[in-house]
Amino acid sequence: MNKKDLINQWTKLKLVKDKRIISAFKKVKREDFVVKEYLREAYEDVPLPILQLQTISQPTTVVIMLQALNVKLGMNILEIGTGSGYNAALLSVLVGSQGNVYTTEIIPDLADFAKNNLKKFRNVKVFESDGSKGLPNFAKYDRIICTAAAKEIPKPLIEQLKENGIIVIPVGPKYGQRMIKGIKKKGKLETQSLGNFMFVPLTGEFGK
Ligand code: SAM
Repeated sequence: MNKKDLINQWTKLKLVKDKRIISAFKKVKREDFVVKEYLREAYEDVPLPILQLQTISQPTTVVIMLQALNVKLGMNILEIGTGSGYNAALLSVLVGSQGNVYTTEIIPDLADFAKNNLKKFRNVKVFESDGSKGLPNFAKYDRIICTAAAKEIPKPLIEQLKENGIIVIPVGPKYGQRMIKGIKKKGKLETQSLGNFMFVPLTGEFGK
């Protein structure tokens, strides 16, 4: 597979409605975020190992999450689970120069890996911290995306989401998690499931 094959696959399946997601995918080089042992597989539609037994998510999963998140220019975004920094780079393009992406990674080596990969994405700030507690200093957020699976949606994330804001997060046990999209209405989340996925666990205080 190459970048073009992936885009054709999504077009055939009518998976991505927001054309800006395809433009962002074209612009950001996934090969800049994978470890060198997996460079040749950069555009295979699979998650790939990075450091410390963690993964860069499967491209199709990434675009499904971004489609559900409905990101607009100028938004303030929180990501939990920076990993390689790839998803944060796509978010950076989607929010544009007037927006901000705050992304948290709990594993120090990965936070360093991502900081290095994200150098040219000026509107992204990487924090080495427990993202299950959110990032209160920059709240509230228009959108929150979590790329690790939680047993339930952490309360601090709901608190730090703006009214009418959207959160996308995989929830459930090790096998058989559901991708949840929640919209905050009158302080509470209205949720729907986007289907079954498999993610590494969310650790930290409000994680597993
Ligand atoms: N978004 C990443 C990318 O684009 O490469 C993929 C993320 S990977 C599937 C999940 C990441 O979540 C791992 O790097 C893991 O260390 C991180 N993680 C797990 N629990 C966390 C927590 N409580 N706070 C911050 N990061 C966490």
